[in-house]
Amino acid sequence: MAWYTEQWSNECKFSIAYDKELYSEKTPFQQIDFYQGEEFGTFFTLDGLMMVNEKDEFVYHDMIVHPAFATNPSIKKVLIIGGGDGGTAREVLRYTTVEEVVMVEIDERVFRLCQEFLPVTANGVEEDSRMKLLFDDGLAYVKNAPDQSFDLILVDSTDPISVGEGLFTTEFYKECYRVLNEDGILINQHESPYFAEYAANMKKAHRKIKDIFPITHVYQYHMPTYPSGHWLFGFASKTFDPLKDLNAEAWEKFGLKTKYYNTNLHAGAFGLPSYVKEALQRGE
Ligand code: SAM
Repeated sequence: MAWYTEQWSNECKFSIAYDKELYSEKTPFQQIDFYQGEEFGTFFTLDGLMMVNEKDEFVYHDMIVHPAFATNPSIKKVLIIGGGDGGTAREVLRYTTVEEVVMVEIDERVFRLCQEFLPVTANGVEEDSRMKLLFDDGLAYVKNAPDQSFDLILVDSTDPISVGEGLFTTEFYKECYRVLNEDGILINQHESPYFAEYAANMKKAHRKIKDIFPITHVYQYHMPTYPSGHWLFGFASKTFDPLKDLNAEAWEKFGLKTKYYNTNLHAGAFGLPSYVKEALQRGE
């Protein structure tokens, strides 16, 4: 047994055990490492940071996808930026009402290696006829995408460092606004309020997004293997409000069995702790 360790802050480290290093590769974009252990199953890291593991991937993928569909059940065209493990696409493709899913992942090796080592997230994604898989930079893609061409954009990105930096810029959020139709919704990986480095990213992202979208909220979920376990998604929208327009009845009619998300939790997820609300309001 060996230990994978991630530095969560200057004074905090997180370690989980693994029995086997399955695969390691340095791509033009990042270092990819796959491990396998008893408790967390197969997991992979990018540049040494935990991305996805078999034990809690259901939390992240439920919460990046289902709140938007419970708010606007008529979503048909979805753009996923990042999401190379395939888990976000997997959840979107469960909606038979969805007509088209475009996934723009910068590093093809992430997806190909997840097809090989992490079938729980990648299986069936490429095979679905509604799926359009592109390997490109997400910022470049939205800059060239036509106006009002998607109902939902899901930004399943890494942190705002290295290749992920462009996905946390005002330019990127403005392009997302242009590419979304008049009822469009943007959901973005919104970092975390607890450790200073991630909290600063959280505040910067919210400050930029709320200058562009008329309706902006942030919601939370419990992600045990991400720094502090308290992580957030942003919900930015042109018309739909995730609380006032929650359509629980319509969402239940989809008949999807979900291990984390439900429409009661939906309401609670937007009920943020006071220190988080204040930090987002203060913005600095
Ligand atoms: N859940 C993870 C997290 O919160 O850190 C993210 C998972 S997913 C694997 C993140 C993906 O974003 C990676 O596959 C990475 O290659 C991709 N990515 C990073 N920057 C990108 C960019 N500029 N355009 C498209 N994809 C990008």
